[in-house]
Amino acid sequence: MQVFKFGGASINSLERIKNVVDITTAEPERPILLVVSAMGKTTNALEKVAGAFYEGRNEDALLLFDQVKQQHLNSAKYLLVKEHHAFIAAFSAISTEAEWMLHDKAVQPYDYYYDQVVCLGELFSSILLTHVFREMGLNAGWIDIRDVLKTDDNFRDAAILWEQTALLTQSVLKPLLHQNNIVITQGFIGSTDENESTTLGREGSDYTAAIFASLLGAEKVTIWKDVDAVLNADPRLFPEAAPLPFLSYDEVVEMAYYGAQVIHPKTMKPLYNAKIPLQVKSFINPALPGTLINAKKPASIPPVLIKKDRQVLMTFHTKDFSFVGEKPIGQWYAILEQLHMRPNLIQNGAVQLMAVFDEHSEKIGQLAAAAEIIFDVTVQPNLTLFTIRHYTPEAIDMHKANRPTILVQQTPDTVQFLYRE
Ligand code: ASP
Ligand code: MG
Repeated sequence: MQVFKFGGASINSLERIKNVVDITTAEPERPILLVVSAMGKTTNALEKVAGAFYEGRNEDALLLFDQVKQQHLNSAKYLLVKEHHAFIAAFSAISTEAEWMLHDKAVQPYDYYYDQVVCLGELFSSILLTHVFREMGLNAGWIDIRDVLKTDDNFRDAAILWEQTALLTQSVLKPLLHQNNIVITQGFIGSTDENESTTLGREGSDYTAAIFASLLGAEKVTIWKDVDAVLNADPRLFPEAAPLPFLSYDEVVEMAYYGAQVIHPKTMKPLYNAKIPLQVKSFINPALPGTLINAKKPASIPPVLIKKDRQVLMTFHTKDFSFVGEKPIGQWYAILEQLHMRPNLIQNGAVQLMAVFDEHSEKIGQLAAAAEIIFDVTVQPNLTLFTIRHYTPEAIDMHKANRPTILVQQTPDTVQFLYRE
């Protein structure tokens, strides 16, 4: 069996939805589990619904929600004839429940409501796609993955409860895959023991695909994207960006760690542990080879460029001149853990430590305040962190150019420089 993941861009028009059916039917190997994201920018739209509701603007929330519903209903009107009635029944069952909630008053934390609302994007898209498959005469099964993927209640960034999820995968999902050789389900969402909806963090559908590939022992996962392959740079910033035909799990994790928006960073671990290859392919041009990711290190990789804007450099100088590397660094890490913060770069000297973070004003302030007890803290915002993996002297020359850098860090395979644009 194998797992296909289709992201939001792959189902954002009628043609593209039909294209998903074409790609799936062209694949001879069965069964296939299809993990789908919300259509287009639906998740962003639902975030606005959750926000309005939480602020007590129920009418706005209902209006915005209605717009999301209408987009799906319109698509269904064009795509479905025989299946239209069945689609409406399944769709209404899910949306009515949400509407009841949107009439209420918010009494729970925002993150809780975020998940109850935002999960609908994947439910709607997967229901629509299932009925499109059936309309075309294909026997596709549908499952609400919240009945299988169990998580803790850390809303918006829920952690998987592996044991329960593994058991439910065997008892619920596996039989369904045997019955229908195509099963469609949702990425990104799950539920707690109490059946409250949860989400796995933005772009989390890749992770869902990897979770079920590992639990079902899939032969392969394919992530269908609107790019030809994983590229060595963001093509919007670097027009010379080129496809990388082969990558190792390690390389992809490193790229994601340094900020490349390739694949959701949590995706690689289950695949690495179960030794399942991941293929990234273009849904626009499925004949292209894409990128194959597995345990093998490719013979050579061109320089990989990763540019992160909106970075903040924080400097922590010990107040009493004690060495950073002794007690202070441990205390510093404890604060980061408490605040769920992860530095993008760290450099330490004798009595001072420098760290670069994403600009997240609230958290930077909290970190500065908490660290004030041990350190004198300074903050420099508005910086850019440029990373080159597999650098060459030419690549450094070209991209560092004559920029005055604030900080440079270099290891045998990675160089990073921090500058003000
Ligand atoms: N729909 C979710 C998002 O936009 C999850 C995903 O696309 O993977 O973040
Ligand atoms: Mg997406």
